[in-house]
Amino acid sequence: MIKEVIQDIQSELPCGVRLVAVSKYHPASAIQEAYDAGQRVFGENHVQELMSKVDELPKDIEWHFTGHLQTNKVKYIAPFIGLIHAVDTEKLLREIDRQGKRIGRPVPCLLQLHIAQEQTKYGFTPDEMKSFLSTGVHQELSHAKICGLMCMATFTDDTEQIDREFALARQIFEEVKTSFFPENDDFKELSMGMSDDYQIALRHGSTLVRIGTRIFGERVYG
Ligand SMILES: *Cc1c(COP(=O)(O)O)cnc(C)c1O
Repeated sequence: MIKEVIQDIQSELPCGVRLVAVSKYHPASAIQEAYDAGQRVFGENHVQELMSKVDELPKDIEWHFTGHLQTNKVKYIAPFIGLIHAVDTEKLLREIDRQGKRIGRPVPCLLQLHIAQEQTKYGFTPDEMKSFLSTGVHQELSHAKICGLMCMATFTDDTEQIDREFALARQIFEEVKTSFFPENDDFKELSMGMSDDYQIALRHGSTLVRIGTRIFGERVYG
């Protein structure tokens, strides 16, 4: 099952686009099954759960942190994390830089763009993103490696709205790249698209799709 879904999704992805299998709340055995089907990039949302899975599972897995990350937990994942998807405050960005410096490892991360209508979602609005980067903060960092932007669309059945939001995200990505990272080849990722909307995200140039439910089934919370 898991194997077939992964192969289906992989076959839909344009060249250069990567699948992040979001495995939060699913057991190590499910991750192992995906791994055996060739999947190597997995996303988790909770530090403790991630740490115990890292211990249990093959060492060549590239782990991504896809959830909201608390500043005081950066130190646990900085040594190995492949990508932190959702940097939503200057404080978090500076802590990632500080921890990277401490251990001498550049830590790849994405800035979270808030485009959805929900009040509850984290991230910088397009205006906040631009004024934040206008301060030049990213040029002061030596070990937080900003590789692009991440966003989530509004949770809705209205595909036209999702389409508009991903189109906007793509536009902001291009503007931010041109204005603030013109000579920086690291700045190339646009992480957007989940189980129900990744096909729309792909049409707008997503480079990383984060898919959980479609691969692993419904999550068991608890
Ligand atoms: C849980 C989660 C996903 C995966 O969502 P599905 O709808 O299960 O595919 C993707 N991105 C983030 C940030 C998540 O928290």
